[in-house]
Amino acid sequence: PIGWGLVGASTIASEWMIDAFRAQPDGAVVAVMSANAERGTAYAARHGIPRSYDQLDALLADPAVNAVYISTTNELHRDQAIAAAKAGKHVLCEKPLALTLADARAMAEACAAAGVRFATNHHLRNAAPHRAMRQAIKDGLIGTPIAARVAHAVFLPPHLQGWRLDKPQAGGGVILDITVHDADTLRFVLDDEPVEVVAMSQRGGLGQEGLEDGAMTIARFRSGLIAQIHDAFTVRHGGTGFEVHGTAGSLIARDVMTQRPVGSVLLRTADGERELPVSPENLYVRAVRAFHDSVRGTGAPAADGEDGLRSLAFALAVREAAASGRCVPVTLD
Ligand code: NDP
Repeated sequence: PIGWGLVGASTIASEWMIDAFRAQPDGAVVAVMSANAERGTAYAARHGIPRSYDQLDALLADPAVNAVYISTTNELHRDQAIAAAKAGKHVLCEKPLALTLADARAMAEACAAAGVRFATNHHLRNAAPHRAMRQAIKDGLIGTPIAARVAHAVFLPPHLQGWRLDKPQAGGGVILDITVHDADTLRFVLDDEPVEVVAMSQRGGLGQEGLEDGAMTIARFRSGLIAQIHDAFTVRHGGTGFEVHGTAGSLIARDVMTQRPVGSVLLRTADGERELPVSPENLYVRAVRAFHDSVRGTGAPAADGEDGLRSLAFALAVREAAASGRCVPVTLD
């Protein structure tokens, strides 16, 4: 079995990931680490996790831990991932991988040097509608893609209204939280790389300490495609969507920028409209299955360290573009 150690007694682990590890035939959650011993103990008891630690070294010294899932706040990911790699543990890390590209690269290098797997938990590329769109584009169903539109403006639920809104040092703000996912999803669906971005951000009532809670971005990709992206924590009733428009047709997906295995994809061409068949599957279960395959040497993670680095590069470029009012190249250094 693959024994998972949770680094961070987080909401995402309790809402999705613990179940996703346990859904694997060879997966077990053996320990959790929280900086707060009391909260860690309570979290372990609540979720039936055998052991809790308040020191990372103690979790990493647990022989039953083969892999760690890092879902602490973003400024902590780097040192925790590097320590885990040095202890010989495989690493599945939350997005954004880190706050700088140098830090993200250091994490990937530490994992490569230690010979452990390293992946980024970009769940959306595991969503059936996004995979159907990627395949439809590869099959030529819309001709050459020209433009994309991403609607990912949602309302941050009250129980998550914490560090994302008021802790710049923890990597708060909608750009590092949500734009980073859009970057990965666009790269995946389009099989294309972003080149440059312009953006505007806002504080629409929730963000504090200078943190943006809404952002609109326009990105140009290598192929020449341009994408328009709206991200927010403040939009209660917008719904989400992802559209790709090509020379011969359009793909119009609704309710697809979400953690839940839902959503639909409409193909519209000169021949009319039809829904693409999608077989929904829990996104996180699929992501962990791919990670387990990679640990066993029979597959690759859904999103690897390079994907995490590239989505971070995009988000950092968007942040800089919004702050400066300039068009910013998306670079990896
Ligand atoms: P949380 O705020 O729930 O958890 C982050 C840290 O905050 C935890 O490590 C924990 O510290 C501490 N914490 C959690 N709950 C409490 C509490 N009630 N009181 C005091 N401290 C608490 O964050 P999220 O789960 O929302 O996000 C964690 C990471 O996961 C981030 O990197 C985020 O970007 C990512 N994420 C990814 C998603 C995806 O779909 N890929 C979705 C949501 C988040 P300690 O470690 O000390 O226990």
